[in-house]
Amino acid sequence: MNKLVLKPGREKSLLNRHPWVFSGAVERLPEGMGNGELVTVVDSQGAFLARAFFNLSSQIIARVISFQEDEIDEAFFRRRIETALALRRELAHLDPGADAWRLINGEGDLLPGLYLDRYRDHLVIRFTCAGMKLRQELILGLLRDRLQPESIFESADRRAGGLENMEARNLQIVGRTPELIEIVENGLRFLVDVRNGQKTGFYLDQKFNRGKVSALAGGRDVLDLFCYSGSFGIGALAGGAKKAVFVDSSRPACALIRRHLALNRLEETRAEVVNSNVFRYLARLEKENRKFDLIVVDPPAFATMKKDLTRAARAYLFLNQTAFRLLREGGLLATFSCSHHVGAKLFDQIAWEAALQAERSARVLFRFHHCPDHPVSVYHPEGDYLKGLLLRVD
Ligand code: SAH
Repeated sequence: MNKLVLKPGREKSLLNRHPWVFSGAVERLPEGMGNGELVTVVDSQGAFLARAFFNLSSQIIARVISFQEDEIDEAFFRRRIETALALRRELAHLDPGADAWRLINGEGDLLPGLYLDRYRDHLVIRFTCAGMKLRQELILGLLRDRLQPESIFESADRRAGGLENMEARNLQIVGRTPELIEIVENGLRFLVDVRNGQKTGFYLDQKFNRGKVSALAGGRDVLDLFCYSGSFGIGALAGGAKKAVFVDSSRPACALIRRHLALNRLEETRAEVVNSNVFRYLARLEKENRKFDLIVVDPPAFATMKKDLTRAARAYLFLNQTAFRLLREGGLLATFSCSHHVGAKLFDQIAWEAALQAERSARVLFRFHHCPDHPVSVYHPEGDYLKGLLLRVD
């Protein structure tokens, strides 16, 4: 039988509905099962716990797809996809004109290893676990039938590919995805480079945070650090900011910023695009004694693994402390971390220590989170990665 038997006592996390089984918890492996195949997880007494995708090559040896004795067939996946889409129909009211959304968010939609973004009528899909990858034909067939997209592009997540020991590929699956897809979010227009961009081409997870920052940007001098294609700064300019300085190390991302200014009819003279390493550029800003009224700090995940935590915390501390020093009185700091390992509490502490070291007084105005189209299961805290604070310096 395809049974994965847990060691005595190791069923606890599954009884608490956590969807991952780590290899150390396993007493007996199923026989003759390939990576990605379905197993039934049972406790040491043989009692049913869950159905799961098996992967001997991964530290997460089984990912739960259902805590019930469901048939995991086409109808099952259709139901889960329908549930995910129903949620997005509700969420569409939050930004009625927007045509870019995350439609499926892995464990947050009870579909582990499956991520689906919609940019207008184009879909971008990512498979991040072997079980979902093995069922790609089935999943793609369901999505084609249900959504009738103009195109589907598979975007490689190389990190997940490595962790799960599976192929990660960039591949045009259906139709022809344009080089750049023009989308609308918060009433603004952006270009998404699905093939060469980061993530699936756009940081959809920040949509509503960008909206808040934009609404408070009126009359301010803005510094958008780690800006990617400039969406925070563009939002700020559209919200009435005086000027924005955009900084990112990616040349193609910086090239899109100018186009975003034009698309949104924002004067070029209000923007300064700096293709540079943020750490290096900050030293220059300090030397020149430049000051700002709104700074966005949205760095990449400095801690992708727990062992990187100390180094990551130091980097966040440095960035935030420097940002505090560059702010004028009454200035706003929108600061983020997208490392799951840096929890909200630790991030609060970093902000506190950064303010203290910069000798600034600061108050929390907002706590940021990723957008609701990136839902997180309460049973799967690992899905909760993006946190941020909007701080006001007095
Ligand atoms: N704020 C962006 C997303 C930022 S993602 C948005 O809302 O769209 C992190 C960005 O940091 C990426 O664009 C990456 O190119 C950039 N980056 C990573 N390390 C960097 C560094 N040391 N200096 C400057 N940019 C960096």
